[in-house]
Amino acid sequence: MKELICIVCPRGCHLSVDDTAPEITVTGNACPRGAAYGKKEVTAPARVVTSTVRISGAAHRRLPVKTRGEIPKGMMAEAVKLLDEVTVEAPVKVGDVILPNILGTGIDFVASRTMDKT
Ligand code: SF4
Repeated sequence: MKELICIVCPRGCHLSVDDTAPEITVTGNACPRGAAYGKKEVTAPARVVTSTVRISGAAHRRLPVKTRGEIPKGMMAEAVKLLDEVTVEAPVKVGDVILPNILGTGIDFVASRTMDKT
């Protein structure tokens, strides 16, 4: 039995996930999204990752970025490390692809805000 806090919404339900039987069961969830989260968390945990990259020609020196979807939790550190090698040139629009196909996941890092050229 694993105890988790659901992070899908701010309510933060306390979940108990029983993964000892062939069928994983989740209790403590106030809605079906919590059950889905609990099952995924014990089988294939994944997260949206946020970070920053260097940007030149803009008013700020770092551009916030995020993954367009979830990537496996075990790849997060390596994915963020890839961003050390990236410098983008302003202007950048929110949603622009900054680093495509992170570690072969098919998920891109994208800009999470627009930065104009100065
Ligand atoms: S189980 Fe449902 S209500 Fe509870 S935190 Fe998760 S998403 Fe929110």
